[in-house]
Amino acid sequence: MSSHRVSELLIRPVLIRPSYKEKQNTKHLILSNREKSLLNIAIRTAEDSECSSQHGAIVVKAGRVMSIATNRYRNCPEFTPSDNPEGKGTIFSYHAETRAMSRVLGDSIYVARVNSSGAPRLSMPCDNCLESIIDAGFKKVVFTTTNGAGKIFI
Ligand SMILES: [Zn+2]
Repeated sequence: MSSHRVSELLIRPVLIRPSYKEKQNTKHLILSNREKSLLNIAIRTAEDSECSSQHGAIVVKAGRVMSIATNRYRNCPEFTPSDNPEGKGTIFSYHAETRAMSRVLGDSIYVARVNSSGAPRLSMPCDNCLESIIDAGFKKVVFTTTNGAGKIFI
């Protein structure tokens, strides 16, 4: 286990991109313009995912994008994606955060999930990914939510 602790969990609706402006409560904007820009890169990345649950993640260091990755199916001896093209049931995948982090580390990571219409959905890292993110020394996680975005400060 990591000696670090998640010091703050903050989930509030924010404006991500103009097409969702009507749905957002702009009184609760918490992302800087740079953070919004970076999260939008993660959103566009997620749209490229081959998985039925489309995730994207980018590793950022000193404000620069260092690595970009989508989630990706992985083979399983008992089950492969081709067994179930409808995306139902358990399908094993590499998570986007893990793939992005495997290439390079940074100080923050942006994670997005989109639905089939490209609308952001909750993409808070799972427990396994969050533990890896903490252990790797990241200081901040920014992720999409249905209403906007959330942040975790480590
Ligand atoms: Zn995960």
